[in-house]
Amino acid sequence: MLNKKSVDDINVKGKRVLVRCDFNVPLIDGKITDENRLVAALPTIKKLIADGGKVILCSHLGKPKGEPKPELSLAPVAVRLSELLGQEVKFAADPEVVGPNAKAAVEAMNDGDVILLENTRYRAEETKNGEAFSKELASLCEVFVNDAFGTAHRAHCSNVGVTKYVDTAVVGYLMEKEIAFLGNAVNNPTRPFVAILGGSKVSSKISVIENLLDKVDVLIIGGGMAYTFAKAEGGSVGKSLLEEDYCDYALKMKEKAAAKGVKLLLPVDNVVADAFSNDANTQVVKAGEIPEGWEGLDIGPETAKIFAEAVKEAKTVVWNGPMGCFEMPNFAAGTKAVAQALAETDAVTIIGGGDSAAAVNQLGYGDKMTHISTGGGASLEFLEGKELPGVAAANDK
Ligand code: AMP
Repeated sequence: MLNKKSVDDINVKGKRVLVRCDFNVPLIDGKITDENRLVAALPTIKKLIADGGKVILCSHLGKPKGEPKPELSLAPVAVRLSELLGQEVKFAADPEVVGPNAKAAVEAMNDGDVILLENTRYRAEETKNGEAFSKELASLCEVFVNDAFGTAHRAHCSNVGVTKYVDTAVVGYLMEKEIAFLGNAVNNPTRPFVAILGGSKVSSKISVIENLLDKVDVLIIGGGMAYTFAKAEGGSVGKSLLEEDYCDYALKMKEKAAAKGVKLLLPVDNVVADAFSNDANTQVVKAGEIPEGWEGLDIGPETAKIFAEAVKEAKTVVWNGPMGCFEMPNFAAGTKAVAQALAETDAVTIIGGGDSAAAVNQLGYGDKMTHISTGGGASLEFLEGKELPGVAAANDK
């Protein structure tokens, strides 16, 4: 259970409430191409409107690197949010984020009104958790709500710094839901508990592997990470993604798994290509038998079967990271097979954001999963067992 105060523990009637959301959505030519994060933010916003708060929303979008970039303005988000909420979300256009325009817009608010501030990363201090911008944000409100799970692993002005200068800082419904699902899955799972890890590098997932080995019954490793394990066992991996420096670590993890009685499943075959291109020549070879000049870009069909079988027997599954270079259609079959296996099981299925969430949604399996996290990096750090600064900063219950 999350021991933090939430929007259910406060009275916001007539108060100015600053809500840090995660509206970091993909935009192409000003059009939002995936609005899951907007939809996920609605319950908290609706609750605050219903309670008579003056709702001031803020978020970052992309990486404007501390200066106004029109293509990364949150203006299109205000338009779409207005439609989703069925009420106007006034956009407080302001290159300083909390400048004269934003202050005037806040001043003019009535109870139940909603405004959206400009991209918080227009300000260079934001990602440095600087004092001045934190104070400016705090000056707009009497109550602060953090509902941005996607940035909870970062300590920035708009999710951590601001809390130092407001009396009341609580979490929103999305934050509660994310922590409840991920926390329950990892710390109180119905067993067998299977974790599936993929993606590019072993080095970026070390702490996750270590932490999960203490918790799971089965650990499945696919994606680019698997070639370091294959090489460590004396296999040939051609020009596949390889982190030589981590071969010893890979062997240690195998030993740790054995000592803990955790079944560690690695690929038994791979789809290999003679170039890093969707048009490359391909063949399926046994893992650790990749010919010189070829590289592994997906798990093979036999591996996909074994991984799917392990998922079938699970009662809880957590998945983070693709099984191959799924962005290229010819190397997406392994990731698709895992997504399908998760869609078909009755187990509790938690998708750890990022690429795996995108893959599941693209395949139309979104509503078949128990929970799809809105935060890739944040869910990964949660799986590492780390405390998330954005959550820690909220008032205790
Ligand atoms: P990560 O950010 O570590 O989760 O990695 C995601 C990226 O890993 C995706 O863009 C995939 O294309 C890439 N990836 C997955 N499998 C492989 C592979 N076998 N070789 C190279 N890149 C891969």
